[in-house]
Amino acid sequence: MSDYKQFSVFLESRNNKELEYKTNAALSDYSTFKIGGPADFIVMPYSAEALIATLECAKNSNVRCEVIGNGSNILFADEGFRGAIICTSKMNKVLFSKNECVCDAGVLLSLLSLTALKKSLTGLEWAYGIPGSVGGAIYMNAGAYGGEISTLVKESVYFDPSSGKVKKFSNAEHEFSYRHSVFADKNLVILSAVLVLKGEEDREKIKAVMDDFMFRRRSKQPLEYPSAGSVFKRYPGYYTAQIIDKAGLKGCRVGGAQVSQKHAGFIVNADNATSKDVLKLIDIIKEKIYGLYNINIETEIRYIV
Ligand SMILES: Cc1cc2nc3c(=O)[nH]c(=O)nc-3n(C[C@H](O)[C@H](O)[C@H](O)COP(=O)(O)OP(=O)(O)OC[C@H]3O[C@@H](n4cnc5c(N)ncnc54)[C@H](O)[C@@H]3O)c2cc1C
Repeated sequence: MSDYKQFSVFLESRNNKELEYKTNAALSDYSTFKIGGPADFIVMPYSAEALIATLECAKNSNVRCEVIGNGSNILFADEGFRGAIICTSKMNKVLFSKNECVCDAGVLLSLLSLTALKKSLTGLEWAYGIPGSVGGAIYMNAGAYGGEISTLVKESVYFDPSSGKVKKFSNAEHEFSYRHSVFADKNLVILSAVLVLKGEEDREKIKAVMDDFMFRRRSKQPLEYPSAGSVFKRYPGYYTAQIIDKAGLKGCRVGGAQVSQKHAGFIVNADNATSKDVLKLIDIIKEKIYGLYNINIETEIRYIV
């Protein structure tokens, strides 16, 4: 049985010193989809040490845990989460040394690419506008416009809750592939990473590329609505958004969830959507695509219940 009292005492003793926490807080505030019921606890540690201490106390108290970054690739359940959602958003230290940077898991990709711009470093332009954290990006090997985090990661430092040890993965050990890393297969928590940027470049050139990518995002993506970005992974040989569009599914709606009129790969929260609306719409899309192309498209977003 969970010992919520022991976990609460731990959180209260560290509150505002090593972490912040909330009880019975709406998960919709922690997801770019703006969907999700209450979590028993939402914990935001300030450091890797505080994150590890929280995970260990949760384990000893038998409290379920899930670690998230910026919640931009997640669908939370309407029922919320029984246990603790641990969010890395307050772990955001970055240290640059020439073209190498050591960054906490919670550092936002957009802020990191702006810092690289200030330092006239090229290599992170593609990440400008992706609303995720470094940890979330490594977990799913985020990428855009020909760039991918896998090409920049030198190593990741992670915590293994089963052994209680902090360890490192070299780039090869991440087993990166399209929108996938080893972290998606194992229960490991990314604490920080070392990224190696490509090198120095004229700042105006870097800025022009970032502005172009942002312009393309704004013109092609439904950024005016809450969403979790592209819902489906690309299927080999197919552009998923294109086949969803060709299937006539643009605008298809279940409750408040809708296939975006602007980008068929996005499901948007058009009007107080529930997670059930989104899941139903995902099923409709998958079935239609299977019927037309005989392929099973896979979701990129993670459902947390
Ligand atoms: C408008 C919009 C545009 C987007 N455009 C792109 C795009 O161009 N390219 C792209 O690749 N993605 C895109 N995304 C999706 C998303 O932003 C990325 O996948 C991002 O990398 C997710 O990071 P996050 O911090 O939000 O992760 P979350 O959504 O918080 O978590 C995603 C997964 O990572 C795990 N995770 C997070 N942090 C850790 C950690 N420290 N340790 C272990 N596991 C962790 C979580 O458990 C979860 O399973 C977009 C999303 C939106 C809303």
